[in-house]
Amino acid sequence: MARQKKIFLEESEMPKQWYNIAPDLPSPLNPPLGLDGKPISPEMLAPVFPMNLIEQEVSQERWIDIPEEIRQILFQWRPSPLIRAYELEEALGTPAKIYYKNESVSPAGSHKPNTAVPQAWYNKQFGIKKLTTETGAGQWGSALAFACAQIGGIECKVYMVRCSFDQKPFRKMLMNTYGAKCVSSPSMDTQSGRDILAQYPDTSGSLAIAISEAIEEAVSDTTGKTRYSLGSVLNHVMLHQTIIGLEAKKQLAKVGVKNPDIVIGCCGGGSNFAGIAFPFMYEKLHGANIQIIGAEPFSCPTLTKGSFVYDNGDVARMTPMMAMYSLGHNFVPAPIHAGGLRYHGMSPLVSASLHDGLMEAQAIHQSECFEAGLLFSKTEGIIPAPETTHAIAATIREAKKAKEEGKEKVILFNFSGHGLMDLVGYEKYMTGQLSDYEYPEHEIEANLAKLKGYPMPK
Ligand SMILES: *Cc1c(COP(=O)(O)O)cnc(C)c1O
Repeated sequence: MARQKKIFLEESEMPKQWYNIAPDLPSPLNPPLGLDGKPISPEMLAPVFPMNLIEQEVSQERWIDIPEEIRQILFQWRPSPLIRAYELEEALGTPAKIYYKNESVSPAGSHKPNTAVPQAWYNKQFGIKKLTTETGAGQWGSALAFACAQIGGIECKVYMVRCSFDQKPFRKMLMNTYGAKCVSSPSMDTQSGRDILAQYPDTSGSLAIAISEAIEEAVSDTTGKTRYSLGSVLNHVMLHQTIIGLEAKKQLAKVGVKNPDIVIGCCGGGSNFAGIAFPFMYEKLHGANIQIIGAEPFSCPTLTKGSFVYDNGDVARMTPMMAMYSLGHNFVPAPIHAGGLRYHGMSPLVSASLHDGLMEAQAIHQSECFEAGLLFSKTEGIIPAPETTHAIAATIREAKKAKEEGKEKVILFNFSGHGLMDLVGYEKYMTGQLSDYEYPEHEIEANLAKLKGYPMPK
């Protein structure tokens, strides 16, 4: 067959349904619990999310229709190309065939608009006028700002983790360009922000703090027309992202690959990983032999060093307790450049997949990741986001293994986003200003010890 770099789908071939893995997991999911330890009801989430998204959150339907209006907006960049990394393969001298799904082609530059668009759409359907959210590196804030602009008639307010707000000023400008407001978190706009600032005036912030602020603003709007939107972690977010893996499956079939041998994604809250991996976990659950790897930073080792516990999603304990791998909600990570991977918890669906042995996890230091990012930039030409470099580093590890074993493995990874707004991180790496952080185990233990008295998942 002639060498083909990019594999496209027609718009008419874009999936018309999302895949919900919940009914297929081997163990039943542990339900989210309220502070009283009792399972929460959908109604209890109603001040925070619109009911149509809550229905998706708790759905046990395997396939869920993508509304046509949402498909029309997704067509601006979807189906995204599947790319064969010939140049990277050559540089590595590996017999492995490496494919990546290029999610950096979205207007905001990452996979995140795949869920931002449906979330804004469902909120509008429900009569919501304003969305609040948090953002780490700024990717999610930009994605939601873009989505609200596309849908129209919804204001967007973003709490951005302070260290990223300072490191990545262009992200804020991007959000402003789409018409959204963006403030540094912790901020003076909320009680939770003011409390944290009083106690820790120099804090670099965390996603857990920013989430508290965004939820507080949503639930304290007395008109009832504001809701909160989360860019990862929740079941409906994983659901929306499965369009990535479903497309990849069709694209691989076009080049004669039924299933890849290895599927890789980086893990922050788990959504881009779930997006590419869940459709292949479905195959794995039906007998296919596929190795599925989640890659995360050593400095925020949720899957590799966290515990499978019930924990809150935020510092102020406004979210329900979720059964997930966690480093404890008081965890404040080192200010590494992969801002989108600095979250203490993990999607309950991804956590359950790890707990059930459907996947494995690897922790990687940021220097190995940036090195992988530089090699990728020079060979494939696209500069990856620091988050994405974790998936690339894991891919390179597996491609080298395939070389040692002399095996022609097919590796598929998710290219979750580009790094054109993260060049300061690259600059620091190239000038020797980045160090590797390993989060001390005794601090993880101390954080998790604070969860004493929390219920344990089954
Ligand atoms: C946000 C982000 C991530 C991490 O979030 P997940 O929900 O784990 O996918 C990874 N890559 C990029 C480019 C991001 O913007």
